[in-house]
Amino acid sequence: MGKNHYQLVILGGGPAGLTAGLYAARARIDHVMIEKGAPGGQVLLTDWVDNYPGFPEGISGFDLMDKMTAHAKRFDLNTITREVKSVILDDPDIKKLIFIDDSEMTCDSLIICSGASANKIGIPGEAELSGKGVSYCGTCDAPFYRNMNVAVIGGGDTAVQEADYLTRFASKVTIIHRRDELRATKIIQEIAFANEKIDYIWNTQVTSIEGKDEVEQLELLDKDGNKSTLDVQGAFILIGVTPNNETLPLEQLNADSWGFIPADKETLTCVPGVFAAGDIQSKVMRQVINACGEAATAVIAAEHYLATRE
Ligand code: NAP
Repeated sequence: MGKNHYQLVILGGGPAGLTAGLYAARARIDHVMIEKGAPGGQVLLTDWVDNYPGFPEGISGFDLMDKMTAHAKRFDLNTITREVKSVILDDPDIKKLIFIDDSEMTCDSLIICSGASANKIGIPGEAELSGKGVSYCGTCDAPFYRNMNVAVIGGGDTAVQEADYLTRFASKVTIIHRRDELRATKIIQEIAFANEKIDYIWNTQVTSIEGKDEVEQLELLDKDGNKSTLDVQGAFILIGVTPNNETLPLEQLNADSWGFIPADKETLTCVPGVFAAGDIQSKVMRQVINACGEAATAVIAAEHYLATRE
């Protein structure tokens, strides 16, 4: 049985968790990073990362996470693979984590890096063609679709804003929405409606994504039961993001209405000694680059917090 109290626990091992681990290890803070599976988070599911600085040719999501893990380990990152059941923040001084086998770990400070997951539609072809035309991030993948026809599925702020962004590269973007009006805020809608490269298919669901090796066609079903197809080379599924917050005391952390955790510019949550970095934070931009930046800030803020307790 390992140690069960640390100065700093890092919950989650995606880009934010690994960066927090790197900074904590280099600062020689008594730390552990807890991850329930292989480190890497949702980037492991990303075929190709083309917007992370230092990799001019781009890098696969797997390789980027492999390098981040190796980098943190070079400085003696302490990591364990265990599944946390709940985080208890009742005692302001001692934060407690309970594992699924009911054993406990305590810490003086905690950095929550549990991430978020893009919502899936769950239709045939979606998983099979992920990274081969199916994407969950317009900002990340838009440049791969220069002069191509792409579809955006969804009608919220993210879908409509990313559709507008995609028109910088794609020749045509078709927003496919299941209702007859967008959910996106009016100002975002106005920008999209003024963009001549965006078309709309209303009251329609995508029922299947077809293609041999890459996306070629979407099968559609409208609210009256009519079937049709749309030829596209890309399908951007932008139907919301779900925070990985099952283990967290959401009320105590003052979670927003979607379940993300608000944090200040030093990444401090409303609970002293508890910080949030990466996609779990309540914020607009969810990219690897800002997850890493927030995690570095979090460790420095945690270090200050620990120093004030000594
Ligand atoms: P969202 O507002 O929850 O919108 C999700 C969209 O996907 C909705 O239009 C929804 O349709 C559709 N949808 C959900 N499940 C679907 C399914 N199974 N099949 C087809 N369509 C489906 O999510 P979001 O756009 O990611 O935004 C999340 C939050 O971040 C919002 O608060 C948003 O304001 C915020 N945000 C802000 C900005 C900004 O400030 N610039 C940018 C991006 C996001 P229905 O409309 O029919 O429900």
